[in-house]
Amino acid sequence: MMIRAVAGLLLWVATGIATAAAVDAVPGLVLDGKWQQGAVLIGQAPVGARVWFDGRELRVTDAGRFVFGLHRDASGPAELKLQLPGRAEPYVIRHAVETREYKIQRIDGLPQKMVTPPAEVLERIRADQALVRKARDHDSALEGFAEPFEWPCTGRISGVFGSQRILNGEPRQPHYGVDVAVPVGTEVRAPAGGVVTLAHPDMYYTGATLMIDHGHGLSSAFLHLSKLLVEEGQVVERGQPIALSGMSGRATGPHLDWRVNWFDARVDAQLLVPPMPAQASPSTTP
Ligand SMILES: [Zn+2]
Repeated sequence: MMIRAVAGLLLWVATGIATAAAVDAVPGLVLDGKWQQGAVLIGQAPVGARVWFDGRELRVTDAGRFVFGLHRDASGPAELKLQLPGRAEPYVIRHAVETREYKIQRIDGLPQKMVTPPAEVLERIRADQALVRKARDHDSALEGFAEPFEWPCTGRISGVFGSQRILNGEPRQPHYGVDVAVPVGTEVRAPAGGVVTLAHPDMYYTGATLMIDHGHGLSSAFLHLSKLLVEEGQVVERGQPIALSGMSGRATGPHLDWRVNWFDARVDAQLLVPPMPAQASPSTTP
């Protein structure tokens, strides 16, 4: 009994400078988004607040906006800490993360070279990955992340976030994008404003690949393109054409694969946009 009381006291002392709080108990804090695997949460805090997510200090705009993401396999509890101006004690929110069930896709009988890349391309794959990681690491002051996102193109959704692929019995990287089945040459538009951080004509897996930094660690990637319409360093606005879709790299058919990251956390692009508009039935063009 005594030991428990002491342990409890020590725990209280260790975390004693922080006030455990619920989101709605923090004055001026509004969070938009679900505490769910793959979700992006956009926050509004009082002007002058400092904010940390899982120990990482977040960039906060002059107006108090910030963003963080919960990766595909986030297990929680996730911790948001806020230091409000004029208040000595920070608020600490520990929140459970809702888990999701991902699809499992088993494909057997594939030629082994399609399951395991040949040795001579490993170096190229590593170089591609290094470029992508560097682009994702940007922590810029851009504020595109706070805009309402729109679909980069519309069409039938043919692949979703998180699906686990098992090829010839071997688990492979989950699918992190949302796939939209569109013919080669379909215009791809920026889902939100930002700066082009990568415009690569030919990566091993993803072919012609484009990445946009939307600010504060949130980035988009567009894979398997047939043509890039913008260059690295270029500022783009939401709705601006940035590329034409395709099936370059190791694509199984024509589609746009759109992926979103918060730094290295894989998040679900589909949670950022309104439902896909209903598809018009195929018509004959005159
Ligand atoms: Zn895909």
